[in-house]
Amino acid sequence: MGEPPKIKKLEEAVINRIAAGEVIQRPVNAIKEMIENSIDAKSTNIQVTVKQGGLKYIQIQDNGSGIRREDFEIVCERFTTSKLREFEDLSTIATYGFRGEALASISHIAHLTIQSKTGNEKCAYRAAFVDGKLQESPKAVAGVQGTQIVVEDLFYNMNVRRAAMKNGAEEYQRIIDVVGKYAVHNSSIGFGLKKFNENNDIRTPPNSNAIDNIRTIYGNLIARELINFNVENDELKFKAHGYMTNVNYSTKKFTFLLFINNRLVDCTGLKKCIDQVYTTYLPKHMHPFVYLSLELDPRTIDVNVHPTKHEVHFLSEDQIIESLTSAIETKLLGSNNSRVFFVQT
Ligand code: ADP
Ligand code: MG
Repeated sequence: MGEPPKIKKLEEAVINRIAAGEVIQRPVNAIKEMIENSIDAKSTNIQVTVKQGGLKYIQIQDNGSGIRREDFEIVCERFTTSKLREFEDLSTIATYGFRGEALASISHIAHLTIQSKTGNEKCAYRAAFVDGKLQESPKAVAGVQGTQIVVEDLFYNMNVRRAAMKNGAEEYQRIIDVVGKYAVHNSSIGFGLKKFNENNDIRTPPNSNAIDNIRTIYGNLIARELINFNVENDELKFKAHGYMTNVNYSTKKFTFLLFINNRLVDCTGLKKCIDQVYTTYLPKHMHPFVYLSLELDPRTIDVNVHPTKHEVHFLSEDQIIESLTSAIETKLLGSNNSRVFFVQT
């Protein structure tokens, strides 16, 4: 046995890259963060354009409040945000992104360009960012109000990740999925998604409604079989609303759109229980479509279990799930006067 190897600290850039790769695991994670930023900026139109499933190129154009010229200096530094001032805000913050990490992360693993114009400025400004830093002072350019963010060559400095993700088609499917879900949940905002130089694959108008957007995105077979539900529970302090298919509809794969406090999240426990409710009413191995918007006291949610902030847990999870699923079951039964039950074999 010789001397143990000396412990050294990794280079700053490497540390940042590793952290960024945790937050942004695939193109769709970057797109989700940027859509949330556009929503926070009160946009009424958000257009997403990609090449190669977002691996080569992502562009998000919104018509929101824009980013001030002087904020360009720090907008991509880690933990810079316009949405959070005190540590205590972390627990009560109602906006979408809240850790000031998204743009910083993207700039560590891709080539990032931001162009933005606020209502007060005469022209737009554009600048490139590398490793959280503004490259040169923002250039004045012609542009409309709002923000356009371009992300190129995602994972260019992470060879293994890039190699593992050659399949742009699969990444594009994930993007369609996420953009579609945001379009349903934010029906007052118009959403567009397309491949570069092609027609829109998703197109919803502003001031639409959830049902129309479900029809546009998921088809009329689902849209015509929807039951609306609204649940409120003062004791458990939650509110929920959404749409679920009745017993006339079933499909091989459970489509579940879950928003908790307006963030698209996963909650495996809740998903399983809702699916379970339907097993009595649907043919074997068949599943429903459910769009559920759940509002909880933000202090009770733990969003930081995973760096991508997808899987969430909350206080009184079991009781809330129980209360929700029983409300859903009641609604399901109530809507089904003819009571067509499928016999399980
Ligand atoms: P966070 O959303 O947690 O604040 P981000 O890294 O996602 O962190 O964004 C940093 C800041 O950049 C935001 O707080 C916001 O001020 C600004 N920003 C990002 N995207 C937009 C946008 N599309 N429109 C206006 N401002 C934006
Ligand atoms: Mg954000």
